[in-house]
Amino acid sequence: MTELLFRDDAYLRTASARVTASYERGVELDRTLFYPQGGGQAGDTGCLVRAGGERIAVVDTRKGEALDSVVHLLAPDAARPEVGETVTLELDWARRYALMRLHTALHVMSCIVVAPVTGGNIAPDKARLDFDIDMSLLDAARIEGETNALIGRGIATETEWITDAELDARPELVKTMSVAPPRGSGRVRLVRIPGIDLQPCGGTHVRNIGEIGGIRVLRIRSEGKRNKRVEIALAG
Ligand SMILES: [Zn+2]
Repeated sequence: MTELLFRDDAYLRTASARVTASYERGVELDRTLFYPQGGGQAGDTGCLVRAGGERIAVVDTRKGEALDSVVHLLAPDAARPEVGETVTLELDWARRYALMRLHTALHVMSCIVVAPVTGGNIAPDKARLDFDIDMSLLDAARIEGETNALIGRGIATETEWITDAELDARPELVKTMSVAPPRGSGRVRLVRIPGIDLQPCGGTHVRNIGEIGGIRVLRIRSEGKRNKRVEIALAG
């Protein structure tokens, strides 16, 4: 089990941690800043810095087998730190911050396009949501304009934890049909943008939606009967 530092503070860029497992694919740590790929959001990259200054690149981050375990993937030819060794974690912050801004932008956009969400993905350069909606109801200029108007309101985001049972009693909170809320620990984190959006989400978000700046709609296309895809990028 890895302590997930990003869950309480998505803005941490460095931390120290102890290696708890080291194998061919990568390493596990007692605590981490690195978000493992999940909920449509790409895994983090960065570095593990050893006491002597040697830098080991983390090329991707994935969930491990156990609940809340995280595997930091290393290049095949990279050095492997020893179990018990203390390392300094350094996040590729520019990349992560772009992911946080795009991820939060999807929450805002999901309030403008009112339809069941059937898919989603967040990469550092673009993000998308798929909706179960008629194509004729998706207008790029309207989505862009209305999403940016909400972003311009500069509202602070909030998180709240509820139990699995409380979530079961409020099924209307689950907007995304394709991504089940992260369960298993008995509690689920809700992300709230007051007046705009409230849904269970385990990803990383900006503190204030004003940090998104603005978005551009890159394209809208049909990926199937129930998947009308809206792809966005950061405006600047
Ligand atoms: Zn989210």
